Amino acid sequence: MTGLTLKQVNKKFGEFPVIHEVDLSIDSGELVVFVGPSGCGKSTLLRLIAGLEDITSGEFWIGGQRADQLLAAARNIAMVFQSYALYPHMTVAENIGFPLKLAKLPRARIAEKVAAVGESLRLGALFDRKPGQLSGGQRQRVAIGRALARDPKVLLLDEPLSNLDAALRLEMRMELSRLHKQLAATMVYVTHDQVEAMTLADRIVIMREGKVEQVGTPLELYSRPANVFVAEFIGSPKMNVFSADLDRSGGNPVIRLSEQTALSAEGAAGSRVFAGIRPEHMTPVDDGGLRGVVTAVEHLGADTLVHFDSAFMEGGIARINGISGVRTGENIGFQVAAEQYHLFSENGNRL
Ligand code: ATP
Repeated sequence: MTGLTLKQVNKKFGEFPVIHEVDLSIDSGELVVFVGPSGCGKSTLLRLIAGLEDITSGEFWIGGQRADQLLAAARNIAMVFQSYALYPHMTVAENIGFPLKLAKLPRARIAEKVAAVGESLRLGALFDRKPGQLSGGQRQRVAIGRALARDPKVLLLDEPLSNLDAALRLEMRMELSRLHKQLAATMVYVTHDQVEAMTLADRIVIMREGKVEQVGTPLELYSRPANVFVAEFIGSPKMNVFSADLDRSGGNPVIRLSEQTALSAEGAAGSRVFAGIRPEHMTPVDDGGLRGVVTAVEHLGADTLVHFDSAFMEGGIARINGISGVRTGENIGFQVAAEQYHLFSENGNRL
């Protein structure tokens, strides 16, 4: 497989800019996930890579080859769609082998290839069935098998799991992860589901309104989000973000900053900033702490979600380990370790 490079890529539909100055390198064998809210341009970026749309300006490279002028068919990039697009009158084996038949490969070679793909995707037992006799997850595996049969340089997947129910999505996520490791394939995966992004990706590309907001490993994005948008997008329930005045003691509400955060926030002393705390980093305390009034309690079993309003933020949420006896209406205090604060400047960028 091969890596991909995008240099200052722009795409406009008519006068309407959809992709703005995207710079991105994807390594050979890497699984990169594009994630972002609806309409941010994820699918368009994938279609530019596939050659289904032309870029308006910039450069696109496949390995060492300039590729933005190459036709889709010449790029050797396979794409799997949300809708699977299998041929209903063909068997599983015929569906997988179809692109090879089109490429006029000898019959024996096709059979060999179909058997190999069937084995890696555990589809062998289903070879004689038609798509109508398969579950959603099995159909999705056949669609992936058909894409892999041609030994593409890169495999693109556009929301491949969104038609599956929650249990099957989890199963297919594990399956895709296994397949990625086994094939060492370069994969680009589009989703709006941050959990899918976190669990599958080697690196995540977070997009908003056609721009890349941050690129990093799932843990980098979780622990050092570059701005408030990324901070709120990654993590569930989302990060509590509130406005605070920073003075040397840490601000109002008084937050005790770690040395590192205090240092990086030094320049912002005296100005208004945004502070962020993840719900899972708030521990209830009897006295002191950040105080609020509990507005709702949700028992998830393993955790309890405590919704609260306080002087510094309305609609806050804390995630407490285990089953908590906290009740609605109660006045509650939370302790937060100094190193768990995230600080952002007034324009939203990380301090
Ligand atoms: P979703 O998660 O909803 O699929 P997305 O992030 O994949 O969204 P895109 O489908 O890439 O977003 O669309 C990005 C923007 O480009 C949207 O505003 C969309 O309306 C617009 N757009 C997409 N395709 C076209 C087209 N062929 N002509 C004009 N505008 C388009």
